[in-house]
Amino acid sequence: MDTKLYGALEAGGTKMVLGIADADGRILRSHSLPTRTPNETVPEMIAFFSQHAICALGVATFGPAQVHADSPEYGAILHTPKLAWQGYPLCQTLSRALNVPFACDTDVNAAALAEVRLGAARGLHSCLYMTIGTGIGGGLYCEDRLVHGMLHPEWGHMLLVPRADDPTPEGFCPFHQHCAEGLAAGPAMEKRWGVSARDLPADHPAFDLEAYYLAQVCVNALMTVSPERILLGGGVMQREGLLPRVRQYVRQLQNGYITAPELNDLDAYIQTPALYPLSGLVGAALLALSAR
Ligand code: ADP
Ligand code: ZN
Repeated sequence: MDTKLYGALEAGGTKMVLGIADADGRILRSHSLPTRTPNETVPEMIAFFSQHAICALGVATFGPAQVHADSPEYGAILHTPKLAWQGYPLCQTLSRALNVPFACDTDVNAAALAEVRLGAARGLHSCLYMTIGTGIGGGLYCEDRLVHGMLHPEWGHMLLVPRADDPTPEGFCPFHQHCAEGLAAGPAMEKRWGVSARDLPADHPAFDLEAYYLAQVCVNALMTVSPERILLGGGVMQREGLLPRVRQYVRQLQNGYITAPELNDLDAYIQTPALYPLSGLVGAALLALSAR
């Protein structure tokens, strides 16, 4: 029996979630800290992990980050608007201080991995995990491995077709007009309607428009990478009634073009993640198992 302990870190723009896990990816202890500057936050993380005899560290991080293990910058944060973290060698610093090897991936790739191994996509060979929260991001597990490509995919910035009744059809991304994040992340809903997404009343037209945009994301995924399952997590998806509407629009927009039997049951095809809100942290623990 493997009784070793593994460190898991889900690094986010607003908070760092730290965990100690066993070899099955079970989180035995967790702790969260606000994300301030590296000088402030990194020593706090080292102090937490130092209390436990961890043998490896897995990091699921906000992006963009260098996730290619053969790069000298592996585990570093890249060109982020969070300027204090730009270029910061997050994983290398923690790994050196703790004297353990690390493995690193994006938060959403880690979440996809966790859902495939232990959650709502168990046993499948492919799965797309999307988070719809402060931003929109996606992690793809495909043909039994996590997909990175050149850097890593930026699912949240795929361009969507704005709907004619959208009062702000250009969206709110500083880089692109009408990308998914700019049209459909929580803050975009707030800017469009003047009320935080969480506080919009259930019958507000915001949610029909939101479902339409998220369905476009799902249909684009279906047409490009053909995942066996799509999981939609994040704060916005906690809104009751939103997911069934997304499925309705997916049915309408894909319009019978793809006839795979999986699509006969959209309730199974598009689900919420089973491990939410711990998918990313559990994924980080699973990454730690593969650290070299
Ligand atoms: P993060 O992306 O920073 O990890 P979350 O995934 O929790 O954070 O997403 C936060 C966003 O989700 C906010 O914009 C918030 O308004 C929105 N949100 C949270 N709960 C709900 C809800 N029940 N209905 C709609 N939006 C929600
Ligand atoms: Zn964008």
